[in-house]
Amino acid sequence: VEFEDLGISENGLNAVRRKGFEKPTEIQREIIPRFFEGEKDMVGQAQTGSGKTAAFALPILDLVDERSKDVQAIVITPTRELALQVKDEIESLRGGKKVHVLAVYGGQPIFPQIERLRKGVQIVVGTPGRVIDHLERRTLSLEKVRFFVLDEADRMLDMGFIDDIERILRHAGAERRVLMFSATMPPEVLRLARRYMRDYEVVRV
Ligand code: AMP
Repeated sequence: VEFEDLGISENGLNAVRRKGFEKPTEIQREIIPRFFEGEKDMVGQAQTGSGKTAAFALPILDLVDERSKDVQAIVITPTRELALQVKDEIESLRGGKKVHVLAVYGGQPIFPQIERLRKGVQIVVGTPGRVIDHLERRTLSLEKVRFFVLDEADRMLDMGFIDDIERILRHAGAERRVLMFSATMPPEVLRLARRYMRDYEVVRV
C-alpha cells in the first residue's frame, strides 16, 4: 500500500513527499481511508512513534475549509511538549493549503493566543486546562468543530484529566467526529469511548 492509495489530496501527497515519508505506517494505512470514507468515530490503539499524528492530520488538513475562520478541528494532548510536537507535525504536512494551526497550553501568556484565535484558526492543539480557560473566556468556540481528537487518551486519564476532557467534549457541536488515540486500552478509555462516541470502530495495530 502506498500513500497514493489512501485518498489523500495531491497537496497532502506533496507534503508527505517533502517530509521524505516513503510508505504509510500501519496506523496510517488503517486510519486514513476509514477517515475519508466513513463517518464513524474511531479509537486507534497506537504507540508514540507509530505515525499516528499524520494519520489524523492528513485527512483533517484535507477536510478543513481554509476560507472559514472557525475552529474546525481540535486536538487535546496531555502535555505542552506533545501539543507543540503535534502542532509542528500538522504544520509540516499542510503543504500549500492556508490552514492556521495554533497550540494553546498553560505557562504561556494567554493574550497572544486570544489574538490568534480572533484572527482565525482552523486547527487548535491544546492541553486540557488552557482549552477550558479559553472556553470559559469565550475566546474559543467549539461549535463548528467537526473533528475532535484525543491524543494519548490513556495518559490524560492517568494524569487526572477525565473531568476536563468530558467538559471539553460537551462543548463540541453535534456534527463532530471523535477520534481517540491511546497506547493502551484500559476500561476507563473504553468507557470514555462508549460515553462520547456514537458508532465507533476500534483500530488496533
Ligand atoms: P508520531 O507517532 O505521530 O509521533 O510520529 C513519529 C515520527 O515518525 C514523526 O517524526 C513523523 O514525522 C514520522 N513519520 C510519520 N509517518 C511516517 C512515515 N510514513 N514514514 C516515515 N516517517 C514517518
